[in-house]
Amino acid sequence: MGSIRSLRCRECGREYEPQFRYVCEECFGPLDVTYNKELSINRHTFESREKTYWRYFELLPIADKSNIVSLNAGLTPLQNADKLGEKLGLKNLFIKNDSVNPTFSFKDRPAGVAVSRAKETKLKAVGCASTGNLAAATAAHAAKAGLPCYIFAPSDIEHVKIAQALSYGAEFVAVEGTYDDANRIASIIGDKKGIGVVNINMRPYYVEGSKTLAYEVAEQLDWRVPDSLIIPVGSGAMLNAICKGFEELHALGVIDSPKSMKVIAAQPHGCAPVVDAWKRNSDEVIPVERPETIAKSLAIGDPGDGIYVLKRLKQYNGFAEEANDQEIADGIMLLAQTEGIFTEPAGGVSVAVLRKLVEEGKIQKDERTVCYVTGNGLKATEAIIGLLPKLNAVKPDATEVAAMIRG
Ligand SMILES: *Cc1c(COP(=O)(O)O)cnc(C)c1O
Ligand SMILES: [Zn+2]
Repeated sequence: MGSIRSLRCRECGREYEPQFRYVCEECFGPLDVTYNKELSINRHTFESREKTYWRYFELLPIADKSNIVSLNAGLTPLQNADKLGEKLGLKNLFIKNDSVNPTFSFKDRPAGVAVSRAKETKLKAVGCASTGNLAAATAAHAAKAGLPCYIFAPSDIEHVKIAQALSYGAEFVAVEGTYDDANRIASIIGDKKGIGVVNINMRPYYVEGSKTLAYEVAEQLDWRVPDSLIIPVGSGAMLNAICKGFEELHALGVIDSPKSMKVIAAQPHGCAPVVDAWKRNSDEVIPVERPETIAKSLAIGDPGDGIYVLKRLKQYNGFAEEANDQEIADGIMLLAQTEGIFTEPAGGVSVAVLRKLVEEGKIQKDERTVCYVTGNGLKATEAIIGLLPKLNAVKPDATEVAAMIRG
């Protein structure tokens, strides 16, 4: 049995039964899952377990193992990035390569947990308001669970953007309106029809999936706490969850205190409301009306967890930095050409921000640095296509071709 205990309001602390509920009745604050404390876990507990994020089962919000819906996501490589490190002047750089998950982004973590919980609480269907990585991850897990899946999005989006999700059998609810309209409809219909909308009414469970990004890094570093973390921020849920994950491991006694860790938020220039707030030294995140960036996965103008990201940055010696489209594209190429990892623009944002911070002396040579790369480059080849070398045709003549080839 898992050890889920309650849902607790992040603002006022009121606790609720762990049911179909996601905001506090008293103060409208977000709810977080709490667990029973009498877990006995040590560094060896997970050693021989399955190589997916479900190896941390008792720290995830599912009561009964039989309800797990698994595509074997997680336990992705923590790549020793010596080649990229050499280029940047870092001796201890690691890439957490989450682009190799089953649907090719880290969203398999939160979506997998939310769909499992939907199955456990006997919801009839699941869904999400998204057109990107989340739609694909939710649809794939719904297929495996045998649950209908509804993707809410504006009707005018390009069909190719939802091709992956639709291939898993999801139904597209094409809302004539904006993303905000699609979100609002998803929220109302979800509650009314008992549909587990993973990033809205299942949010407390959803965010728990992302904290496994902390567990895995800690375990892969032999239970050492990294010195700095570069984390891409859209809604900010992942950054928060990663911090929570390290705190839980410390509370369980398997790692030292993470309080010396440096947590860095990375956003694209065309949609950087958290970076703006940070640089203004303000606690208020002002929404971006019209995000304009090649990093579509991070184009969330009004980040739900933005204020909590600011708190985390203060708590963990951090800062926030942005990268423009050119820097993002350069980041994608640099990572691909040094480490053989092809990422979508969100990962390019992480790499570009890392590069900037090293140049500014904000990350030191010997720091054990973990850079989160959260999605696969094949998802967004249009972002870099303009940067690729031109094709020069050559006659099918061996002498002519031989003359072209270097070395
Ligand atoms: C969703 C997403 C993010 C941002 O995660 P948040 O929890 O919204 O901050 C980062 N990278 C990729 C590839 C994503 O799909
Ligand atoms: Zn409350």
